[in-house]
Amino acid sequence: MGRAMFGRFALSALLTLSLTVPAAAQRMVPRPGASRNIAAACAGVDPASEKSWSTPAPPAHVFGNTWYVGTCGITALLVETKAGLVLLDGGVPEAAPMVLANIRKLGFNPGEVRWILVSHEHWDHAGALAALQKATGAQVIAGPRQMNALMTGKPSSEDPQVPFFKGHDLLPVKVSRTMPDNGRLTVGAVSFTAIATPAHSPGSTSWVWRECEGGLCKTLAYADSVSTPAPDDYHFGDHPKRLGEVREGLAKMARISCDVVITPHPSASDLFRRISGTIPISASNGCFAYAQGGIERFQNRLVVETKSKKPEK
Ligand SMILES: [Zn+2]
Repeated sequence: MGRAMFGRFALSALLTLSLTVPAAAQRMVPRPGASRNIAAACAGVDPASEKSWSTPAPPAHVFGNTWYVGTCGITALLVETKAGLVLLDGGVPEAAPMVLANIRKLGFNPGEVRWILVSHEHWDHAGALAALQKATGAQVIAGPRQMNALMTGKPSSEDPQVPFFKGHDLLPVKVSRTMPDNGRLTVGAVSFTAIATPAHSPGSTSWVWRECEGGLCKTLAYADSVSTPAPDDYHFGDHPKRLGEVREGLAKMARISCDVVITPHPSASDLFRRISGTIPISASNGCFAYAQGGIERFQNRLVVETKSKKPEK
């Protein structure tokens, strides 16, 4: 992120800090189909289990005109604008009909979805996109380094997670447009800024936009995953390009000044308790704290790698 962009986010955060909603009770749920307690609806579903990824969740209100339409384990977001709907991610292939059902439960027509934005090019977040694209007629916008994997269904050979994807094909998706780092998509009055955060995957992209509700305006960030899984025998130290990208992606994530952090795995940011109103939806350091967790776990991984490389005595 450029200095000017960072300055703009920092300024917008400062302007809204004093307006942060303190009490959960003040949250509103303006659409009848939205759940008031998605945390309770998904209670008992282990968020760490792959089963949660295809367990249906009710739709729920996040903030302003942003809605949660994903499953109990994987996020999909719907943003209403005056110029149509924007969908961010779709989840696993089995989630496609669940996401469509949630869009309808909120009273929207899936045909109103004009754009689909992508967090990263893995089957558990982009696996539903081919079906969702077909059902909605929407155009997919992706980061330049997501495009090849999405179009071919084959993850980048630079991605250390490739061995984990056996048996989980990503159905090819037609990408209509790429969005460069710091590029913006404006739909109606909402501008989505893409920030390349290549920590979790080479194409990892975070999306930032503003929402207002009851006179309060906040910066929302769909902050991509900050986990850096890799097979045990993969050493980031042997892949300096990937190592540098992970560090760059995590550092850029930490610099995003957001009021509301939303993560592709809802449990990674306690999202359900926040949107159910049990705890505050906002935190002035939400993106920084989220990135910091990823930075610490990655440092620990590097330490383990270094130790495992020491010659046996
Ligand atoms: Zn992933």
